[in-house]
Amino acid sequence: MFNKKVAALLNEQINKEFYSAYLYLDMNNYFQDRGLDGFANWYMIQAQEERDHAMLFYQYMQNNDIKVTLEAIAKPDKTFKKDMDVLKAGLEHEQFVTASINAIYEEAYKAKDFRTMQFLDWFIKEQGEEETNARDLITKMELFGNDPKSLYMLNQELKARVYSAPSLVLD
Ligand code: MG
Repeated sequence: MFNKKVAALLNEQINKEFYSAYLYLDMNNYFQDRGLDGFANWYMIQAQEERDHAMLFYQYMQNNDIKVTLEAIAKPDKTFKKDMDVLKAGLEHEQFVTASINAIYEEAYKAKDFRTMQFLDWFIKEQGEEETNARDLITKMELFGNDPKSLYMLNQELKARVYSAPSLVLD
């Protein structure tokens, strides 16, 4: 019998990951409007990765015969007045998701659910990377964001980011 608390948290995580995708789409939308296509690209790839995360939780639950209940996805609720607001909201959101993944891990640990712990290992590492990427972007923006030429270069750099499928493959 699968632990009920762990199952409920996994189910909630599907929603949180889809919400993340929605939030990043909103950020993509902000930068499209601004005419910063590189930044827009960066957030589009973030959105694609979040959709992948949602599907990994979904697939993990199905593979383990845990009932999935799909809930409504909340509307992105942030308003962005300037570029840096978006970047900072992105980092804050990743910190929120890290805490959420850690909370599932803690319940899985208490329940001696080693399989879920192993599944979550990939996400623990992934969250570390997500936070680093968000922080790096803020640093670059602080350094170069105020000068139009440098902003142009940074936008070009972010335009080069390409999507790649997650390294975690479930059987
Ligand atoms: Mg995610």
